[in-house]
Amino acid sequence: MSALPLRVSRLTGARLADGRLVDVELDGDRVSAVSPAGGAGDTADAADAGATLDLDGFVLLPAPAEPHAHLDKALSWDLIEPPMGDLERAIESWVAYTATMTEESIAERAEAQVLAMVQRGTTAIRSHVDLLRTGDPLRGVRALVGVRERLAGIVDLELVALASSEASDAVVEGALDLGVDLVGGAPHLAPEPLADLRRLVAIAERRDVGADLHTDESLHGPLTIVEFARLVRGWSRNASAGHCVRLGTLPLDELAEVVAEVAASDLGVISLPITNLYLQGWDDPVATPRGLTALRALLDAGVRVGAGADNVRDPFNPVGRSDALETASLLITAGHLTLTEAYDAVSVGARDVMRLPDARIAPGSAAEFLAVRATGLADAVASGPVGRLVIHRGRLVSRTVATTETAVPARRSAPLSLPPSVPLEQAS
Ligand SMILES: [Zn+2]
Repeated sequence: MSALPLRVSRLTGARLADGRLVDVELDGDRVSAVSPAGGAGDTADAADAGATLDLDGFVLLPAPAEPHAHLDKALSWDLIEPPMGDLERAIESWVAYTATMTEESIAERAEAQVLAMVQRGTTAIRSHVDLLRTGDPLRGVRALVGVRERLAGIVDLELVALASSEASDAVVEGALDLGVDLVGGAPHLAPEPLADLRRLVAIAERRDVGADLHTDESLHGPLTIVEFARLVRGWSRNASAGHCVRLGTLPLDELAEVVAEVAASDLGVISLPITNLYLQGWDDPVATPRGLTALRALLDAGVRVGAGADNVRDPFNPVGRSDALETASLLITAGHLTLTEAYDAVSVGARDVMRLPDARIAPGSAAEFLAVRATGLADAVASGPVGRLVIHRGRLVSRTVATTETAVPARRSAPLSLPPSVPLEQAS
């Protein structure tokens, strides 16, 4: 039987991303103090104090948040065996398969996917859920609402009703009635993108909930984000746009005008590099575009930017490690963000887009942490180490311990060194 979750009151000897070595005190689900390591002594004297975790050898990071998942689709690749291809082809494979899905089968895959993400450090997930076109349109919603209840102690799960243009207003509102948090959709796929966009925003306004729309997920298709930004201007509700691939194709002068509209509405943008890299560019065999949104322009304009992994092992992306460190790595190599920008996008940036409480390693912040067995942030993102501790709401909810044995030949008595006269290129 697992001893987890385990309430934690103190983390000692933690290396932070900026290199500092600190002790961190927790008070319930909040950080109460951060001080230089070893300075405060053992203060765990209260009778009801939680555990002290020794983080020697770990880097301590704000926990990742996943701002755009599809838990109802996850882990279906092997069941569907779809052909590889672009977004349209993936939708075709997926929709054909949905007819076979039961509430139970959806819940089973979704729960496995949530656990994989939590084990790698993600403590908050926003998942879209399809309003299905065959049978009970809300069985995916019922499945994910059930998973959210079951796993409430280890992860915060937010749900978005993903409405195609064929889903009626009544079905979208039925999903909200069942406990879905936000209105979603993909207006760029609708026969009349702007009309579908206006319909979805109107439902969100009528029900006083946020909206998170798949937006302009193509290299050559419609550009709806300006209208989305204008429609939600002045909103106090949460509004965010996922993908925004088309934004990344605009000439710089046009891009500046569009980004200004996005910034003026405080519309959050969610970048999803792994799925964009997979689904985009199939028609461009030469100088194939990457399909990512205009990350640099958005960050420079002060737009709230988060990043996620989107699909995991389904017709929309056959691979994926359920690991925010993989997304951060892709933001560096495919999106040209710095190491710090990349990790921010999958952690504090993602939480900001989701309007979750700030979770930094600072007094007053939410106690949401990922500790990775690594020498620093660069090592963590580059290597994606297996050894991890995951803290959610001040409690240890997952621990992965790895043991490695390697047949390394014994060292010779004197260390190997090249004679100084031998040029390096001749050394063998
Ligand atoms: Zn999506």
